[in-house]
Amino acid sequence: MKVRRRTTLAAVAAATLAGTLLPAAAPAAAATGTGTGTVAKAKVPTVTGTARTGGTPLNMRRIPSPAGERVGAVASGKTVWILCQVTAQQVTGTVRTTDLWDHLANGSYVSDAYVERPATGIPKCTSAPVIPAPVPPKPGAAPVPPKAVAAPVLPKPVAGESWQVPVGASLVSGFRTVARPAHDGVDLSAARGTPILAAAAGTVIRVVCNVSAGSCDVDGNRTLSGCGWYAEVQHAGGVVTRYCHMVRRPVVAVGQAVKRGQLLGHVGTSGSSSGPHLHFEVHVNAAPATHANAVDPIAFLSARGVTVR
Ligand SMILES: [Zn+2]
Repeated sequence: MKVRRRTTLAAVAAATLAGTLLPAAAPAAAATGTGTGTVAKAKVPTVTGTARTGGTPLNMRRIPSPAGERVGAVASGKTVWILCQVTAQQVTGTVRTTDLWDHLANGSYVSDAYVERPATGIPKCTSAPVIPAPVPPKPGAAPVPPKAVAAPVLPKPVAGESWQVPVGASLVSGFRTVARPAHDGVDLSAARGTPILAAAAGTVIRVVCNVSAGSCDVDGNRTLSGCGWYAEVQHAGGVVTRYCHMVRRPVVAVGQAVKRGQLLGHVGTSGSSSGPHLHFEVHVNAAPATHANAVDPIAFLSARGVTVR
């Protein structure tokens, strides 16, 4: 993905962005105006701000979008040098809810939702950033998924057990579709923060942050791999359910008994995810939950009288 606007500063920034974790968005040029003579001549005014994420690093993106390629990160509490701001996707952060994104002196973008900065004095960026369509998963970007295997036969329902849908949401991606043969669950689209409920009674056996880089406390994207914040529940009859991409740490703890419909966490887009949804898996002959023992959650629930729309 190319940044269309390439000023001298941007050229410097492009080199800086080659790294995966930048210590801070310090301007590479004499943006601070100190005039030491050892840096580029261009003097670009910047406004300083402070990353405030509540602890985890703030992701720097190549474009002003949570789905944009992650090109670095700045630790919470560190300074960022803001060149200008653009209007793009709204983000609810720890500082504010806003559709503004800060274009930093290193050429990257961070959501203004996580930046403490002066209320005034930050210019609008003069050239609109290139905002491409959502990026489909690149074959080489994620770890090579295991070959799809035939799902095991669905177990008979356990007497006395009752099931429900884990979230009031609509099905957007099915189990092991032609396009996604290694997709071991279903994607249920729901707004950020929607409660995720235990599909049946059981015991929480895993509470995990699973992401290939960065944090589960910030929005992920499809260049990452991993389920983000997720929980697993062990049910009777060797069934395990898995609930992925939560917006923050699940509200339950390992070892905790949960009832059907009990709150496990909230919908988010952590890990390998392009927008808020619940990725829901059902495994049989488990734990552990594996690729080999995943079954179609829709068929599983349907056999228990539960319809997912
Ligand atoms: Zn999914």
